[in-house]
Amino acid sequence: MHEFRYKRNYLYCEDLKVIDLVKKFGSPLYVYSYKTILDHYLKLKSAFKEIDPIICYSVKANSNLAILKLLVKEGAGLDIVSGGELFRAIKVGCPAERIVYASVGKTDKEIEEAIKRRILFFNVESLSELENINRISQILNRITNVAIRINPDVEPKTHKFITTGKITNKFGIDFESAYKILNMHKRFAYLNICGLHIHIGSQITETTPYIYAISKMVKFIQKLKKEAINLKYLNIGGGLGIIYDKEKPQTAKEFADKILPLLKRTGLKIIMEPGRFIVGNAGILVTKVLYIKSTLKKKFIIVDSGMNDLIRPALYDAYHKILPLHITDSKLSKVDIVGPICESADFFAKDRVMPEVKEADFLAIMGTGAYGFSMSSNYNSRPRPAEVLVKKNRVYLIREREKYNDLIDKEIVPGFLKRWRR
Ligand code: PLP
Repeated sequence: MHEFRYKRNYLYCEDLKVIDLVKKFGSPLYVYSYKTILDHYLKLKSAFKEIDPIICYSVKANSNLAILKLLVKEGAGLDIVSGGELFRAIKVGCPAERIVYASVGKTDKEIEEAIKRRILFFNVESLSELENINRISQILNRITNVAIRINPDVEPKTHKFITTGKITNKFGIDFESAYKILNMHKRFAYLNICGLHIHIGSQITETTPYIYAISKMVKFIQKLKKEAINLKYLNIGGGLGIIYDKEKPQTAKEFADKILPLLKRTGLKIIMEPGRFIVGNAGILVTKVLYIKSTLKKKFIIVDSGMNDLIRPALYDAYHKILPLHITDSKLSKVDIVGPICESADFFAKDRVMPEVKEADFLAIMGTGAYGFSMSSNYNSRPRPAEVLVKKNRVYLIREREKYNDLIDKEIVPGFLKRWRR
């Protein structure tokens, strides 16, 4: 599942001792395993080889150029959601015909850039957006490929903040409205409506919600076919869950076995947009224990990383395993593991039973390859950690640790304030 293992009581990433990486690159530090990323991508590719889908890795999960390049070199496409992600996709040389673009709020500038690049298609989320892409395409005198994002109204059984396919979510278009749109396609002279898209949520550990959603799509596609509305692509989104704690998510193979028969019935080219499944378990965040503080009710382990580096626990109450880099035979105790930020939401674990650690020890926050660094910020004016990629017994710095100057680089103090004297 991943390449982080203990050998002789030390945590290793592939063939390297993680503690040596922190000594070299400092703390906090994001560490990624090349082999884990590649294995997950290849597992999915092989499970679905019968239909040879275009696997568009979801850039938002982890957008580091080295990770994007690794996947693009292996033949992956990219699922993007902003002009910035398009910029990254181009930087790593992703062929435009392997880029799909979702987002409920694409700006005119973003739409124009993507049209000019001739991406595979936009996943369109509303009638207004469709009209806007048509208008911009007319100005540019281009026919633009679009897929309609359907909101299939299914319950994906995941955290409420990461469900996206329920009718109360802001995403996609209901079947009835989509049907009307597909029937008035002549109104959009500059659009080629070539596909349908769904993305029902994230960290989905059961196949049932997918079966339910895709079955609805198959029915819809068949209805369209009968009316001679022929499409080319079905994009089934991402969302495959991983193990953070005790989850038992479907494997790529189990997932494929269940949904392949449905996908084949569509006769369409399938696109997938996995993010977490590929990178989630391929990364850890290493952090140093600064202080141990016991209060009347609690014992706190205060570490040098905070919610600015990894916001998932604060945002979703997400669980991440936390392991020492070096196992000793210390006894267990119940602790809260918290960061230095001035927010009570700045925690990584609450009431967690852990082997006792000492100040200056290091901990690994597991499963932080997805939505870790990519959701990080400079809150509390904290420079972001460095990121390294391990391949067998070699380590590559893939993002430098930020410096204080990076924090103020774009800020401007107006001249009148500089001249101001008391
Ligand atoms: N596709 C779309 C449209 C998304 O919004 C997301 C995540 O939010 C993904 C794909 C990737 O999801 P995951 O990382 O759960 O696979």
